[in-house]
Formats: sequence, structure tokens, C-alpha cells
Amino acid sequence: MKQAGPDFESLLSAVKGIAADVAARHAADVDAQARFPHETVDALKRSQLMSAPVPRILGGSGCTMRELALLCATLAQACGSSAMVLAMHYIQVACIARHAGDSRFFAGYLRELVEQQYVLASMTSEVGTFGDTRSSICAVEVNGDRFVLNKDATTGSYCAQADAILVTCRRAPDAPKSDQVLVLVRKADYTLKQTTSWDTMGMRGTCSPGFRLESQGHVDQIVPGSFADSSAQTMVPYSHILWSSLWWGIAADAVGRAATYVRGDARKNPGVVPPTATRLAEVSVQLQAMRHNWLALAQEFDDTTAHPDGMQELLSIGWALKMNHLKTAASEAAPQIVHRALQIVGILGYKNDSPFSLGRHYRDSLSAALMISNERIAAKSASMLLVFKDD
Ligand SMILES: Cc1cc2nc3c(=O)[nH]c(=O)nc-3n(C[C@H](O)[C@H](O)[C@H](O)COP(=O)(O)OP(=O)(O)OC[C@H]3O[C@@H](n4cnc5c(N)ncnc54)[C@H](O)[C@@H]3O)c2cc1C
Repeated sequence: MKQAGPDFESLLSAVKGIAADVAARHAADVDAQARFPHETVDALKRSQLMSAPVPRILGGSGCTMRELALLCATLAQACGSSAMVLAMHYIQVACIARHAGDSRFFAGYLRELVEQQYVLASMTSEVGTFGDTRSSICAVEVNGDRFVLNKDATTGSYCAQADAILVTCRRAPDAPKSDQVLVLVRKADYTLKQTTSWDTMGMRGTCSPGFRLESQGHVDQIVPGSFADSSAQTMVPYSHILWSSLWWGIAADAVGRAATYVRGDARKNPGVVPPTATRLAEVSVQLQAMRHNWLALAQEFDDTTAHPDGMQELLSIGWALKMNHLKTAASEAAPQIVHRALQIVGILGYKNDSPFSLGRHYRDSLSAALMISNERIAAKSASMLLVFKDD
């Protein structure tokens, strides 16, 4: 049997080093050029961080949600785009590990992922579904033991750089739009035609333009079960908890820069507490509350899934509401915190070429409310709250 991957403490120490020595160094250029953070991803691969969520029995590190969130939060303090790439990759790996790990093909694929440190991307968005991940127009067409799958995606982060893509689609050409499955398509079996650009305000290093995907493969690459379950039990909780942790990381670095600025201010007038220090105290309250929110839900996810009825609990309205509330709160808090840090730092935070610059943090954090629109989430929560009783 293959040896398990590095333990969490080793991974955390590796990601701290990568954040400081690699990601932070290249973050401004990644942002300016809207280019893939390949130096950081190569370093993550060398430290076996891409297989952190793979079960230990398959050679991975078997990290819990809390551990994955801490890894993403740490990297985000150096480069938001790199952390988003890592988080999105973890979400896809988790979908396979938790919903297809019993299949021979997928167990073998996960072992291969550990060996090769593959990067997995996601295609849930589609032209014509208007941001609703729970409906698809495209369908997987099975013929014997082969399938064909073509999709017009509006937004496909790092699809051009990935080794494989997990694609949502209808189960069959005659299936309703919400009867979806997840299909793993591998680089050798697809072609991508870029259909739109990715010249955005922030998260520029995620390289997320639209793509027309044409793919084929073996039916074993279709994740067993329905996407309705893997979405509720894995894709949504992993997305909302890991995204929240990395949005916090972006906000934490902004507050860190503000703190450095305030200390510099204080040194100019020894014995006098500068007025900006009070602002720093105020924003630190919000930053701590944000951190406790995702940490608590990551721990609750780990506790829930350790329980025999845990997977059932993740299908409940109560759990769905908790995830929606976390996503909404974190995506609103991150740009607010960065904004407050900017008020503390002032013009040096506004400038792009100062060590206190907060432009990238601000622009990156603004994507949070759009990445699955908060309006869409609020509408779903509103209808669930009509029938949900919290006991
Ligand atoms: C950085 C980044 C990376 C991404 N990476 C990927 C990726 O790798 N793969 C992928 O598939 N997708 C990706 N996406 C896309 C993302 O997951 C969403 O699909 C997309 O952001 C939603 O697009 P939209 O705003 O056009 O859609 P919509 O959700 O349709 O929103 C359009 C408008 O309608 C409003 N609206 C929607 N529903 C309601 C409602 N019920 N009530 C009131 N108003 C409403 C919204 O507020 C918004 O103004 C990424 C997005 C970002 C920002």
C-alpha cells in the first residue's frame, strides 16, 4: 500500500513558506498581467499540497475541512488568486473523494493525482443558465462505454492550465435541467476554445474566461449518484467554507498592512497613541468575527461528517441556510474590512506602488459577493426560511 502524504502540520508549514517566499513575491505581477500564478502552483505541487484532501489510504494527506481552510487562508494572505485556485482545486478533489472514491476508476485517479499533483478545474457555469449551478443545458451523451460532452461555459477558472475539469451537465439528453451529474474530463480527451476574455477588476490570476469545451471519455469518468447530493453535501460546503477562509486571508493581510502603518505612525511620536490605532482596534473586531465564523463552520462540518448520520444532515435546510449565511457574511465583510484598512492607511494604501498598497486586496475581495451572486443566495435562503423552524 502507498504511504500516506505529509501530515497537516508539514503542509501548513510548507504553505507558510510558499506564501512568504513565492506567492507574495509574484502577486503584483500575477495581478498586473492577469496571468496564472504558475510559480506558486508549482511550489504547491512540490510540497504535495494538491493532494491534501485525498484520503490517506489513497496516498493523500486526508485533511479535514478545518485544515484545508487554514491552508487556503494562509496562502490568501500573500495572493488571493493563488488561494482561490487552491480552494477551487480542493473543492473538485473533495467531490471526487467523497462521492466517487468507491469506484475503481476514481480511486485509481486519486492515486494518480497524488503522484502527479494534478490541478483540477470546475465548469458549473453555462451560457443560458444565468448563474444557477443547479441547472444545466448541456447533457452527457452515452454510447456503449463511451461518452461525449460539450459545454459552453461562461466562466472557467484556470481551465487552460488544468490537467482535468469536473463538469456539471444533465444526466442524459432527455433529462430535466436539474437532473445533473458531474463528469471528469481529462486534458488528453478535450479541446477548449476560449470564447470571452478575463480582464477583470480582481481575482485576475484565476484566469477565468468563457470556454467552449468539447470532450469525450469512458463512462467510468461519470461521478456516481446525482449532482443534487454532491452539490449539497460537498460542493456547496467546501466552496462556501474555503472561499470564506481565503476572503478572510485577503482581509487579514489588508489589516496587517494597516497595523504596520499604524506602528510606523506611533514610532514617530513615542508615548502618543495615534488616532489610527483606534480605527485599527475597531477593524480588528470585525476581522476576528469573520475568522470565527468560517472556523466554527469548518469545525461543525468536520464534527457532522464524523457522525454516521452526517451526510444526511448535510442535506437538511438548516445546514443549507448555515452555508448561505456564512457565504453572504464573509463576502460582505471582506471588502468592508479592506475598505476600513484603506481609511487607516490613507493615500499610501491607495497607491499601487507602495508597500501599503491595498488596491489588489480591494479588487479581489469585490468578487466575493458575485461568485454565486449574493442576491441569488438571498432569494434561496428567503424561500427556505418560509418553511424552516430552528429548534
Ligand atoms: C473569480 C471568479 C471565478 C469563477 N470561477 C468559476 C469557475 O471556475 N467555474 C465556473 O463554472 N464558474 C466560475 N465563476 C462563475 C460563478 O460561479 C457564477 O456562476 C457567476 O459569478 C455568476 O454570474 P452572474 O453574476 O452573471 O449570474 P447571476 O447569478 O445570474 O446574476 C446576474 C444578476 O442577477 C442578479 N440575480 C440573480 N438571481 C437573483 C435573484 N434571485 N434575485 C435578485 N437578483 C438576482 C444578480 O445579483 C446579478 O446582478 C467564477 C466567478 C468569479 C467571480
